[in-house]
This record gives sequence, C-alpha cells and structure tokens, in this order.
Amino acid sequence: MPMREKAEEFERPGIFRPPSERESYFLPLTSGCSNNTCTFCGFYGTKLRMRDVREVKREIDALSMYMGHGVRLPNIDDIVYAVAQRWDGRRVFLQDGDALVYPYQRLVEALKYLNEKLPNLERVGSYATPQDILRRSVEELKELKKLKLSIFYTGIESGDDEVLQRVGKGVSSRQAVEAGRKAEQAGITLSLTVILGLGGVEGSRKHVLETARVLSEIDPEYVGALTLTLVPGTPLWHEWQQGSFHPISPFESLEELKLMTENSSFTDCFFSSMHASNYLSIRGTLPRDKQRMTAELERVLKKRDPELLRPEFLRGL
Ligand code: SF4
Repeated sequence: MPMREKAEEFERPGIFRPPSERESYFLPLTSGCSNNTCTFCGFYGTKLRMRDVREVKREIDALSMYMGHGVRLPNIDDIVYAVAQRWDGRRVFLQDGDALVYPYQRLVEALKYLNEKLPNLERVGSYATPQDILRRSVEELKELKKLKLSIFYTGIESGDDEVLQRVGKGVSSRQAVEAGRKAEQAGITLSLTVILGLGGVEGSRKHVLETARVLSEIDPEYVGALTLTLVPGTPLWHEWQQGSFHPISPFESLEELKLMTENSSFTDCFFSSMHASNYLSIRGTLPRDKQRMTAELERVLKKRDPELLRPEFLRGL
C-alpha cells in the first residue's frame, strides 16, 4: 500500500532502539510509526514522516568522511558526530518505529550507499511491523538481506487475536506468523518481542498460551519478553484509569513468563526478559536452558519477596 510522504517536515527522532543495538550507529529514515494505533505504545497517534533520501545520503557522506579521515562536513547535526565518536563502523540501526516502511527503491538506494561508503559495515537492523514485512516479496527481502539488512525487530506483542484486536495492533496472529516465515525464507534474522500483561488479569492465560503458540510457529532466533508499562496519555492508560483494564501484578508477570517459556517450542532461540520494563531478568537458549530458566522463576515465585524484583522506579520503557 503506498504511504503518504511528507519529507519536507522531517524532524530527527530521539534515539529509541532495541537493547542489542546499543553499539550501532542510528540512521533515521523515518520518524513516527506507520501503524500508530497500538493503544499501549508511545508511538500511538504519531505521524509517519519519510526522510528525503538525499538527506540520508548526505548523513552517510558525513559519517564516512568522519570515520575515514576525521573530517567534519559543514551543516551536519551534532548528534551524527556524537554517535560516530564511539562507533566502530560495523553496525547500523535504521530509525524509527518501523523503518522497513521506507519506500523500497529508496531503501535499496540508502543501503547500497551505506555499503559503498562504509567498508567495515557488517549488519544493518531495523524495526519492522508484520505489515511492513508482508508488503514486501520474498525476493525483495532477499535483496535487502544482500545489502546487509539482516535483522528485523518485530513486535508480536500477543498471539491472542482478541488481544491484538483490542490493542489496535492491526494484524492477526495468522498474519504475524506469515510475516515471520517470510522473513525467515529470505534469511533475515528475527528478533521478536512480546508483552507480558497485555491480556490484563482476565485474559492472562489465553494471552500467554496463544503467544507461545505463535512464537513456536515462527520459531525465531531471538525472543524478548517485555512487561506492559502503562504510558500516561495512551488509550490503554486511560482504560486502566477508568477501571476497564486490570493490569496483572509483578509476580503475575513472572507467572506469565514461566508459562510462556514452558509452552514455547523452539529449535534454537535466545529467549530473554532483559528489557528494562521487566521485574526480573532471565535469559537462556531454548530448549536447552528451559529447566534452569523455569527453576529460576519458580525460586522467585516461591519466595514472593518484592526485594528480588526490579523496583518500579527503575523500570523503563
Ligand atoms: S507497537 Fe509498534 S506498530 Fe504499534 S504503534 Fe508502537 S511502534 Fe508502531
């Protein structure tokens, strides 16, 4: 589906990225998110903006000159050099909420330029919605992979169609599986996120079991569990304030995590709850570490000691 463009209004977004991209250079192609209807998300209601590809290439030029010769080009945002100063030249993360929505030909052009100007480039990553992936053919995805766009970070959030519909995700669990398989067919690594607590108290068990089903069907390389954080001003926050959404407790989030790891079936998946939104950080490779991870969760669940959990004020989005 063609997206409306407003290149003239492009404003550089703040840095928002997956934890594993902390060492990367952040290159904005878009701002906002094309699917701005998720009621729990800080991108709710944002306007999608596309950056002019000439501006993108100019930033790549500046980066290349700086990395290769220590030369600073005029009229380049200070943030470019601030990030480049501690960058090793190997990984680039494309901003923003779903940079894969950037028009295909221009995405190819930007990636070719990155490859040409940055000889040490190893990997490019991007957030991608299931809808973005479904919009591309496998051949197109393979082309992107050849140009080193080789990891997608995709929010699955839930495998429960009722939950997906209620939170405005704009995609069904079947489409999420289809998108995941398509990326895999193209050889692109998938890092999926799911949100503990998104089903609320009443929908907790179904949310977890359906999510485990979808994760197992996709069978990705990485899964990151996040815990729902109610962002002031979002529709879900209002639902909570009005009493129509009942969030689970911190210990219930650990119960969800345990149920999810127990019911997921993977070939070889790094599964973690290392994100700052979680009350407890666990990590491991599934299925190999299933017993250890379950035991860790059981230990904490048995003691029910709040001291063992990340304090509320240290939780992040
Ligand atoms: S959850 Fe993802 S798709 Fe939904 S609004 Fe946020 S960034 Fe966009």
